[in-house]
Amino acid sequence: MSLIVQKYGGSSVADLDKIRFVAEKVKKYWQAGHKLVVVVSAMGKTTDTLLSMAHSICSSPPERELDMLLATGEQVSVALLCMALFDKGVSAISLTGGQAGIITTGMHTKAKIVHIEVSRILRYLEEGKVVVVAGFQGKTANEDITTLGRGGSDTTACALAAALRADFCEIYTDVNGVYTADPRVVPGARKIPYISYDEMSEMANLGAKVLQLRAVDFSQRYGVRVHVRSTFCEEEGTWVEEVSAMEDVKVKAVTHTREVMKVVLLGVPNQPGVAASIFKVLSDFSVFIDMIIQSEGRGTEKDVAFVVTKEDEGKARRAVARLGEIISFREVKFDDSMGKISIVGAGIASDPRIAYRMFSTLARIGANIDMISTSNLRISCLIPRDRVEEAVRALHEEFIGEGEVILNGGS
Ligand code: ASP
Ligand code: MG
Repeated sequence: MSLIVQKYGGSSVADLDKIRFVAEKVKKYWQAGHKLVVVVSAMGKTTDTLLSMAHSICSSPPERELDMLLATGEQVSVALLCMALFDKGVSAISLTGGQAGIITTGMHTKAKIVHIEVSRILRYLEEGKVVVVAGFQGKTANEDITTLGRGGSDTTACALAAALRADFCEIYTDVNGVYTADPRVVPGARKIPYISYDEMSEMANLGAKVLQLRAVDFSQRYGVRVHVRSTFCEEEGTWVEEVSAMEDVKVKAVTHTREVMKVVLLGVPNQPGVAASIFKVLSDFSVFIDMIIQSEGRGTEKDVAFVVTKEDEGKARRAVARLGEIISFREVKFDDSMGKISIVGAGIASDPRIAYRMFSTLARIGANIDMISTSNLRISCLIPRDRVEEAVRALHEEFIGEGEVILNGGS
């Protein structure tokens, strides 16, 4: 018998019928004799609703109070799921993140897990109970309620799986797994049966929303095998695990995001230490930076451009305002017309033909490349936002095609 951590996302518990359906699934595992820890998200769009209430009642809500508010969403779900289980004769108990022993840093709204005290969960498991834990939350050493950042229930589940040394972690969602591209954009996109932690981490980082980035990193660090699959069908989904390196470099997926903003600083001083000052300020405001381009110097001036996520736009604007007090520049432009497309796969950078094929595919559809960045696992291009979908389809056709079977690995 296994110890399994399951996570059900907001769409899987969006209404009472869905909660009953989840309870039925949990019951099957429990009856089969598995030990089960079930992590749930807030029902449907609850977190968004709570956030918008906060922002209508207060122009800049204190982050501690935001956490107090947002954490209630998950509490509703755990209590209702336990009641549904009770009705089906399953012995279960609900816990908040704090009660489950999840201790975090005090950085409200994006706290990090520092420790999980698992004894209480283990005791209930020994008693034969299903333990239902509120996702996305924890508490500080001072008993303040914290949340782990949007999509944080994935991290709760993967962290609990690591701390409990679970056999594996199942992430139940409304799609069948991780796809070679967003199926809403590429109708021929296919499910990837196995993907490595590194590749999944790149994809999460590049905007694939199926698994939170920190959850992937946690799983990799502690060797937790993660199975991303649909709540509503029995089919196998995608296994995220250590996949042995393939000889053949292969583009595994095409990822895209429209949620980016390009920032251009025109006419910054062309002298040592300027890039350091710029990125020091951005780092002080914890702005996540992706691509960076610095132009060739023109006499005493040069330009610096970088890309931030839309989520960080507010912080980036405040950081640039601060920067204006530290260095001089002629002008700043915030360009909101761009999107980012990437191809992902281990070893991509070691084969120059792949970059060539990517750029010529974009040239063929006439999409102008504004910026490029690469790592060993991906090549990303910034292109006009209105060309993103067409580019994703063209790249998917070039690298992945329609009928081909993906053979890579699995253990
Ligand atoms: N309910 C939270 C959110 O919507 C956490 C989660 O769903 O993972 O971001
Ligand atoms: Mg979610």
